[in-house]
Amino acid sequence: MGEIPFVEPLNGVRYGAVEQVSPLIRRIIANNPSKYSYRGTGTYIVGHGDVVVIDPGPALDEHRDALTAALKGERVRAILVTHCHSDHSPLAAWLRESTGAPTIAFGPHGLVALDDDDDDDEDDAAETEPDIKMKESIDVAFVPDVCAVDGSIVASSRDWTMRAVFTPGHTSNHMCFALDEERALFTGDHVMGWSTTVVSPPDGDMRAYINSLRKVIDRNDRILWPTHGNPVTDPQPFLAAYLAHRLEREAQVLAQVRNDVRTISAIVKVLYSNVHKGLHKPAGRSVLSHLVKLVADGAVAVDGGGAPSPKSTFVVPRK
Ligand SMILES: [Zn+2]
Repeated sequence: MGEIPFVEPLNGVRYGAVEQVSPLIRRIIANNPSKYSYRGTGTYIVGHGDVVVIDPGPALDEHRDALTAALKGERVRAILVTHCHSDHSPLAAWLRESTGAPTIAFGPHGLVALDDDDDDDEDDAAETEPDIKMKESIDVAFVPDVCAVDGSIVASSRDWTMRAVFTPGHTSNHMCFALDEERALFTGDHVMGWSTTVVSPPDGDMRAYINSLRKVIDRNDRILWPTHGNPVTDPQPFLAAYLAHRLEREAQVLAQVRNDVRTISAIVKVLYSNVHKGLHKPAGRSVLSHLVKLVADGAVAVDGGGAPSPKSTFVVPRK
């Protein structure tokens, strides 16, 4: 259990091309591949004539030009943003300006992660992997015109109905959007089509993330459209494995602490020994997110007290 089912790679991505991927949905992939964005950001257009755009994407001229061409003759009714990482939201400002359509999201970004120890590790990794972006950066300038309420209809036309599904965890403001007519869910970075998502404290929250995964499982959508990677066409087994993977990782982290492997770097060395060293940094953030949850659950404590941090030592609390 716990293995993520294999999903076929997006073969032959044609950046900037418009693909009609379902009766109501078109997708355009931006040319911003990275270790976080896989082959790039998938921007979705829902409807014909009256349309919504989901996650306009990164500030790249060629992606903006591709969207301009794809939206020629369409009336953009709303711009939906799942969260404001810089591969999702920056072009929303331009699209709002050029169409007059409102931006709709849960809200602006929450706490901005200030994390001192990032810099040295990033420099190390940058020496070996100069082309790979090390972090998801935050589009702090993004503030939606409309704050969407969980479960509410955020936009509709004769042919389609878009509904907000609040899914905090990857970020505290992460929102998925459902297309009722196709029983489809646009999952942003909450559920990815190619890997597990990054949950990095303090804004990322593993406890919220796991609850939000259960929420999507309970919806029983017919298909998931992630921002990165292929659609998930059989969501239930995929999501069950996705959840099991997180719970298994949590159990492994707890077992390490019980085994006196008590710092994050030591735990990463054990649990991610078969993973490229360039990924140990995000792995450390993920282990921290599990430890924050385990401390909140009372299963683990910070040695000497205080809040869990990347430099903390962890212990099993005395009964
Ligand atoms: Zn993201």
